[in-house]
Amino acid sequence: MNAAITSSQAAQSRPQLSGSTFDRAVGLERPIDARALDTRYKVILYLEGISVSFDGFKALNDLNLTIDRGELRSIIGPNGAGKTTMMDVITGKTRPDAGTAFFGQTIDLTRLNEAQIAHAGIGRKFQKPTVFEELTVFENLELAMKTDKGIWTSLFFTLTGEMRSKIEEKLELIQLKDHAHRPAGLLSHGQKQWLEIGMLLMQEPQLLLLDEPAAGMTDEETERSGELFLSLAGPYTLVVVEHDMEFIKQISHNGRVTCLHEGSVLAEGSLEQVQNNERVIEVYLGR
Ligand code: ADP
Ligand code: MG
Repeated sequence: MNAAITSSQAAQSRPQLSGSTFDRAVGLERPIDARALDTRYKVILYLEGISVSFDGFKALNDLNLTIDRGELRSIIGPNGAGKTTMMDVITGKTRPDAGTAFFGQTIDLTRLNEAQIAHAGIGRKFQKPTVFEELTVFENLELAMKTDKGIWTSLFFTLTGEMRSKIEEKLELIQLKDHAHRPAGLLSHGQKQWLEIGMLLMQEPQLLLLDEPAAGMTDEETERSGELFLSLAGPYTLVVVEHDMEFIKQISHNGRVTCLHEGSVLAEGSLEQVQNNERVIEVYLGR
């Protein structure tokens, strides 16, 4: 295997998760197991009255948001509206000054750290892809499946047939089957983004947060990303922040759109409702 991958590199991009700490924190034996997440009222994410201040400036101001399981929710809004800060709160990167944040009915996100939240089933895709360029597409997916083990154990671990088919299933989803044995460094920007989504999916997250996933993509890659997200909705829940309104149209024709402004929800509803909202036109879409 590739000696260029150091254990510190691996630790940086894939935090070592401590299952036992997590188990103690929320009292679940297998937190990543879909059965552990209680969505009996359909709600997978519940934010109420969330506020975050930076030096007195309210990045989030009494934010309320509810996402149902299986939804593909689009989030729009001007720069500085608080979209990324909202994702920081959901993933435990930023602690809210006030408010409630629940994952399913029982998991209080404000009491967990980032690693515990990832382990509970919330995956986040950052703008910059963090794939291992020297490893093949297949190996990247393989590694993503085994973050619980040390890197060296991971690299020399024998793949079971079940694991192999899981990787192949994800390869199909992200449309990189023909590139499985190419080094990830040779992929286009868009393909690297899809690989990273595939790597997130290897952890079987319940909720995926994607912050400006189409940024830097060609029109064709953007459209294919839209198709990918539409195909993931249902089995997965997705929250997608994007500025590209063509892309938003593609992914939200059946879904709901939320417009944030000054740290709270300005409008929410179908794309048509949000697009025709006077305030949304005023602060974001323009005339
Ligand atoms: P968006 O993603 O909608 O463009 P952000 O959530 O990134 O908005 O930012 C919301 C506001 O909070 C902005 O005014 C930004 O400058 C501010 N902000 C975000 N993170 C920090 C931080 N760590 N320290 C200080 N101000 C911040
Ligand atoms: Mg942002």
